[in-house]
Amino acid sequence: MELKLDTPWQRALDQIKTWARVNSPWAIHYNSGSCNGCDIEILATLTPRYDLERFGVKLQGSPRHADVLICTGPVTLQSRDRLVRIYQQMPEPKFVVAVGSCGISGGAFQGCYNIVGSIGEVIPVDAYVPGCPPRPEAIIHGVVALLQSLQKKPAPAAVPEEK
Ligand code: SF4
Repeated sequence: MELKLDTPWQRALDQIKTWARVNSPWAIHYNSGSCNGCDIEILATLTPRYDLERFGVKLQGSPRHADVLICTGPVTLQSRDRLVRIYQQMPEPKFVVAVGSCGISGGAFQGCYNIVGSIGEVIPVDAYVPGCPPRPEAIIHGVVALLQSLQKKPAPAAVPEEK
């Protein structure tokens, strides 16, 4: 556990960290069982036409370097453990954006034999982007809303260890 002192220096350091995080969050993308429709829209969001990088968002591959997990699809039995492991590997504070109706409620895959449920049933979710699939503008709106909330909101509780 990190020991924090309530000093002016510590508060200034926290403000600088939050400023840096809001202006340049690193994101990782994970498909926990999506039909790929939402994933194509996320890729479109990163193209020069929509250019998510203008908000400082950088997509990269390692959960150990990521601040934000952008997740699509319902959670399948096969991907559940991987999703939890990716989330646990991300450093605190970490944030999750669930993209698409399937990520919010299970969507079209609700009740299927191989579906655990929505993303929120497996890990804590900070922002939801509805749609099937959501347009790039909606995904950008969700990410920007999350970034704006970072300045006010404490980090979510860590997911409990599996038994
Ligand atoms: S919300 Fe629609 S596009 Fe996205 S994973 Fe579900 S069915 Fe596919």
